[in-house]
Amino acid sequence: MQGLELLDGVIRELEQTLAPLQKQIWQWSPQNVWPSSGENELVMRSEAAYELGAAGLSSVCCSCVTADAALAGEDRVELYGPDLAQITQDTPYARITLLQTRTFDSDDEAYRTAKELELVKYGVFPRGFMIRSSAVSGREQVRVAKSALRQGISFETVGGLFIRKLRENPAVLHARVLFVTDPAADYAALGALCKKSEQIVQALNHILDGLDLDCAHCEMKPLCDEVEGMKELHRKKLKIAKS
Ligand code: SF4
Repeated sequence: MQGLELLDGVIRELEQTLAPLQKQIWQWSPQNVWPSSGENELVMRSEAAYELGAAGLSSVCCSCVTADAALAGEDRVELYGPDLAQITQDTPYARITLLQTRTFDSDDEAYRTAKELELVKYGVFPRGFMIRSSAVSGREQVRVAKSALRQGISFETVGGLFIRKLRENPAVLHARVLFVTDPAADYAALGALCKKSEQIVQALNHILDGLDLDCAHCEMKPLCDEVEGMKELHRKKLKIAKS
């Protein structure tokens, strides 16, 4: 992978932001996953114990791909904050997925795969865990059913279901699913980093489209001024196209 290597810096910053918090880690086992309902399931407000990332509270969701095994080279679930059984009321929430993918022959293939993997979340349906995602705001809200809590739902098993779905894509070598529920977490910083990762992928798309190198008139300029390597990548792409 070439262009998507620019996401490695974002992954490191996400880890630094979470570093002050206590965490629990579970290695993934295909046998230890929460059952899927197989389709979008409606959990009514009256059936829900609480909502993660409810309206008025912080809610962050994104995924980042990397080829670096040091950043995402293990299948595991991480939790920063209380687990589902300990939560008693609506709470702030973040779910961040870090994926180690195989290396790609071209940036186009890497970009296409990154976009494809972003959509996997719409195909994961943990029973009694109703996910509502907004591509526009980047928020993810989850209604957790009282019945699921009685049956023993946990972030370990819900994350396990995400990993099982992600691992169905042959480009994915490993997946780390991070859940954050600690009220003390810096959700604003996590949200800003998630936004930055989306913008990098978006800028990569512009660059791959053969856009002229005209930074002064480009809407991506603030991002490219900040993220080391963007301008070099654009120059390199144009040089290859002209050769
Ligand atoms: S390098 Fe310049 S032209 Fe290319 S995407 Fe970034 S700001 Fe735009």
